[in-house]
Amino acid sequence: MNHLKAIIIGAGMGGLATGIALRQSGYEVEIYDRVSELRPAGAAISLWSNGVKVLNRLGLGKEIASIGGQMDRMAYYSSTGEPLTDFSLSPLIEQVGQRPYPVARTELQGMLLEALGVDRVQLNSKCVAIEQDADSATAVFEDGRRATGDLIIGADGTHSVIRQYVLGYAVERQYVGYVNWNGLVPASEDLAPKDSWVIYVGDHKRVSLMPIANDRFYFFFDVPLPKGTPKPENYQTELSGFFEGWADPVQTLIQRLDPLKTNRVEIHDVEALPAWTKGRVTLLGDAGHSTAPDLGQGGCQAMEDAWVLANSLVTNNISVEDSLKRYEMIRKDRAADVVNKARKRSDVTHGKDPEKTQQWYADLKKEDGTDIMNAICKTILAGPLN
Ligand SMILES: Cc1cc2nc3c(=O)[nH]c(=O)nc-3n(C[C@H](O)[C@H](O)[C@H](O)COP(=O)(O)OP(=O)(O)OC[C@H]3O[C@@H](n4cnc5c(N)ncnc54)[C@H](O)[C@@H]3O)c2cc1C
Repeated sequence: MNHLKAIIIGAGMGGLATGIALRQSGYEVEIYDRVSELRPAGAAISLWSNGVKVLNRLGLGKEIASIGGQMDRMAYYSSTGEPLTDFSLSPLIEQVGQRPYPVARTELQGMLLEALGVDRVQLNSKCVAIEQDADSATAVFEDGRRATGDLIIGADGTHSVIRQYVLGYAVERQYVGYVNWNGLVPASEDLAPKDSWVIYVGDHKRVSLMPIANDRFYFFFDVPLPKGTPKPENYQTELSGFFEGWADPVQTLIQRLDPLKTNRVEIHDVEALPAWTKGRVTLLGDAGHSTAPDLGQGGCQAMEDAWVLANSLVTNNISVEDSLKRYEMIRKDRAADVVNKARKRSDVTHGKDPEKTQQWYADLKKEDGTDIMNAICKTILAGPLN
């Protein structure tokens, strides 16, 4: 369809990628975000090859390569530092046709904003209601302003208000059962090799170091904890307690991290939704499918959404409503599959059934990379650009 005006609620990676894809399709785009300053929550993400391919398709291949980390290997160690497996990621890259890029969130957001045009995003715009009729849809903001277009895309994240509008009820997020601390530290060889994704596992906990651009590591710690465990004053003391006796690099990482720049998140996901679309209004990214980060796929799925939605609109000449339904039909099962797989992966990593977790630790010792890479490839290759 030609000459559409899209209103996007949310300037996260999903909303911005969608804005770029729709502008490239010739549509007018307005993006609104509730915040007064765009500062993404979280330190970094691994953008797997399916997400990178969408960015390549949007003409951002060089840009993402310039801010992405060079992750050539992957290695697992036991909590005490015993090597379990260590392998090259080249077979994975060859199989899927694109290198993954671990990337700082602020740099990814900056890249997307620049490609979109910063002036397309209006801040201090908290959407509180949606209205629609046969010809248009309108977002209503907290201060009474309104924005009307041919369609509204709810890219307003895991606490989405547009989701509530689409479904007619509020969705309860599910606690996945663990807390994640994440941040950035300067890369150094006493923590991990600078070209390798290194993961320590034991006691149902996990510590990860991933190389991102400009000689930094994106780190995270996972610990299974009851929901609502109070946040302590000092994350370093808290982590030292949880990781007492772990290998030297883990202790060094805890000492070296900046507690004021470390995030502490209780990990949630959302059961597959019965619908993503109501008339001229649809959901995208975490608003439609919040996942545990255990496959590193939440943001990648938002990128896939962006590409499929733009394609669905541009190739359809029936109606906006029909395009949105087709987008939902293509994306819903794929996204639900990722959410389910991530939860299963989390259950194994975090000891939901302790025997299975022990078996996984034992299997890692026999792993030459084939099974791990096959599983990652399978998820990547189920994307829309393969
Ligand atoms: C610990 C952790 C690690 C992760 N690691 C990875 C990874 O390695 N790889 C990966 O691909 N994904 C990862 N993810 C998932 C990824 O962060 C999300 O899937 C991604 O940020 C979703 O993008 P989004 O644009 O849909 O939502 P968001 O990034 O949440 O953006 C939503 C935007 O909407 C705005 N907004 C919200 N409500 C309103 C409103 N009412 N009105 C106006 N604006 C509003 C918000 O201010 C925000 O800017 C991880 C997530 C977590 C928690």
